[in-house]
Amino acid sequence: MPTPIWRTTENYTAGREGTPVDRIVIHYIVGTLAAADATFADPASQVSAHYGIGEGNFHQYVSELNTAWHAGNWAMNQRSIGIEHSADPDRAPSESTYQTSIDLCVRICQEYGLNPQTQIIPHSAVVATACPGTVNLQRIRDAVAARL
Ligand SMILES: [Zn+2]
Repeated sequence: MPTPIWRTTENYTAGREGTPVDRIVIHYIVGTLAAADATFADPASQVSAHYGIGEGNFHQYVSELNTAWHAGNWAMNQRSIGIEHSADPDRAPSESTYQTSIDLCVRICQEYGLNPQTQIIPHSAVVATACPGTVNLQRIRDAVAARL
């Protein structure tokens, strides 16, 4: 499991008000990881995620103990870990991005006792959005399930 490198954000809420983590929400950046770094570093954006993956890099912005602002829904933010993937509508995630995401999801599912087939969800299951776009969510679910 690669270790993430921390990147700055002020866009989160300390703690989770006691809410247990029971979902992983999958996102795509519509851009590179550097674009996500810049957006989350800007307090005016009012968005963040726990993790971002792309271009061979793996970043963490928010502790899993804290509530990141990624799902567009407060209750879902409190109960979930958000993972951003470098991709665009015409560019799928790279093989390296998939492998890091799968490694990360395996660790999270083990740690929190999650079922990858039902508890790794697309952002589009939370709110009306095209996110996670070109991310093949079922591929991630199946790869994680095969390793649990
Ligand atoms: Zn999203």
